[in-house]
Amino acid sequence: MDFQITHIGIKQDRQNGFRYKRLHNSGIFRGNDTRQKLIDCQGPFEEWTNISARKWIFARVKEQKEGRKVHIVCDCCDVIEEQGNDYKKLSDINLTTRKNKNCYGDEIVVLIKSLAKQN
Ligand SMILES: [Zn+2]
Repeated sequence: MDFQITHIGIKQDRQNGFRYKRLHNSGIFRGNDTRQKLIDCQGPFEEWTNISARKWIFARVKEQKEGRKVHIVCDCCDVIEEQGNDYKKLSDINLTTRKNKNCYGDEIVVLIKSLAKQN
């Protein structure tokens, strides 16, 4: 099954038909930033004890099983460069573009896809 879930930055536009889900609202991170996970959301997902964060992840897994298109949006990067899509123009990315090298966006997308495959 081909899942349609991608990680995009806060300044990117959503693609047609995609839902927009902000990591900011996931309950996984400290405060209003998406740079640091809460202590009960660290390590393997099976060990997370944060109920609202787990619920948020499972809601995304359910969407994938239902065939929804979803963007996971982080607050720590302006633009995510990804191969094979057309919403990025390299010429538009300049030195003031924020990019967090340790961003969790990709990791969360991988987690959601792997859970959707398992169940
Ligand atoms: Zn980010």
